[in-house]
Amino acid sequence: MSSPSWPPTLTPEQISALTTLATTYALSHGLLYLPPGAPQPPAPTSAIHAPLSLLPSPFPRALFDHAHKIASIYNVLYARIAMDWAFLDDVMGAERGAGQVDAFVGELWRGWKSIRDDYPQPLHLGLFRSDYLLHTSDGDGGAPPSLKQVEFNTISSSFGALSERAAALHRYLLAATSSYFGASPGVLKPDNFPPNETTRGLAEGLATAHAAYGNPDASILFVVQPGERNVFDQRWLEYELLERHHIRVLRQTLSDLSASASLSPTTHALLLHPSHPPSPPTEISVVYFRAGYTPSDFPHPATYTARLLLERSRAIKCPSLPLQLAGAKKVQQVLTLPGVLERFLQPPHPGKTYRDDELADLRAGWMGMWALDDDGGVDRARKEADGLVLKPQREGGGNNVYRSSIPGFLDALPREEHKAWIAMELIRPPDGAGNYLVRAGGNGNGNGNGDGDGGGGAVKADVVSELGVFGWALFGAGVGEEEEAGGVKEATAGWLLRTKGRESDEGGVAAGFSVLDSVVLVD
Ligand code: ADP
Ligand code: MG
Repeated sequence: MSSPSWPPTLTPEQISALTTLATTYALSHGLLYLPPGAPQPPAPTSAIHAPLSLLPSPFPRALFDHAHKIASIYNVLYARIAMDWAFLDDVMGAERGAGQVDAFVGELWRGWKSIRDDYPQPLHLGLFRSDYLLHTSDGDGGAPPSLKQVEFNTISSSFGALSERAAALHRYLLAATSSYFGASPGVLKPDNFPPNETTRGLAEGLATAHAAYGNPDASILFVVQPGERNVFDQRWLEYELLERHHIRVLRQTLSDLSASASLSPTTHALLLHPSHPPSPPTEISVVYFRAGYTPSDFPHPATYTARLLLERSRAIKCPSLPLQLAGAKKVQQVLTLPGVLERFLQPPHPGKTYRDDELADLRAGWMGMWALDDDGGVDRARKEADGLVLKPQREGGGNNVYRSSIPGFLDALPREEHKAWIAMELIRPPDGAGNYLVRAGGNGNGNGNGDGDGGGGAVKADVVSELGVFGWALFGAGVGEEEEAGGVKEATAGWLLRTKGRESDEGGVAAGFSVLDSVVLVD
């Protein structure tokens, strides 16, 4: 495989024409964000296009296929981790795991522990996204890149619906401009643009859980952040649930729920008592969390109480607290220790088991990781700082510590907090990739992604692209053949490509560092 030099040459007129076509397509096809600033009362009246790339980015076909092939094993793996109480207590618990020193993790674990012995709902739902970067190793003499996992998300795995639309945008530009004005004819052709049906796939997961709940008249609850700007990504799932599956969706923040939610004393059904407009209570079948993964989602104690009320209900949680805990970076690191992957995927596990070569496929995608509280863990992190990132038990971007910031950070980090952090070797994406990045209102917004013309338009930048593969799993006692052990029903559900300026360490679209992109497959 050799990646073509990218982007291909385009004239300023062609770039300008592509930009106009791209932003108007995005605005007319819901590839949108709410604009920054205060929420628009009483309801949104304007939107901006999501940050996007003008061209798709080349991605090796074999590695793209490989990421999809292993997705099913990851779905099963994380489902089983969430059902293994002893493992989660050891790794994440507040008595001996990361929850001992991380107050937020400790709070979630204690909440789960306090109710888990009489959990009224045996099923859990996960909508997952496994994230990867391409990696080139030192001195490999131009050897092809490999695929390395950044992290595995078990809560609020976002950008499914918008990534489907970003892929559709690039297909449209291909069709509308005679294959990007004939630039790179060997690469930019329809066969190299893989389908991407994330919305259908993720809604399928939610609808499968809804059906398993057993009351077709119930609604699905989306738990959302106040002031969320990425609402269209969520709304597309809502429309799909309504139109294809005839399931209604309600949206509430954890603060809203602290006033509106109650449990039926007899059945533990989750009931919502909407006040705008006042209406009879609605039973909830599935609680889908697009909030609740970061301490700021819990501004006052009543929001923790609300989170726990949801957990105690008969509704199926996506994710349940144990599945949320399973998605921690600490779990990702512990999986690399000898025997841990085997515990979940090989005999004597009572469920379906996997061959050694299948486990080897997962391991081949991991960078070296260790815990700061391992013997010598801090010394090693200081020594190897230039090739490392330190990660705490947080989601949502902006929490990691990179390279030269590591020694000073370690100087200030109290010894008792070491347990909450892991060290991970840095993935080194190949050089030579570029793209044209387009942000609403211009590119001079201080995100470090280009030369910032401040006046709109496309900016050429050296880039790094992160692939995400979506999947879902419905699991627990009563699912599939492994009734007693807790079976797993799962499927893959499309993909995401986020592209960021090479000089930016972090990669979140919502955090303003990346744009939505799509893949063009190369051999
Ligand atoms: P978060 O939960 O905040 O999304 P991530 O582990 O995904 O945390 O890290 C955020 C970003 O940092 C990633 O999207 C990626 O761009 C970058 N990153 C994380 N780990 C690595 C790594 N090992 N090597 C290179 N970049 C990384
Ligand atoms: Mg991430």
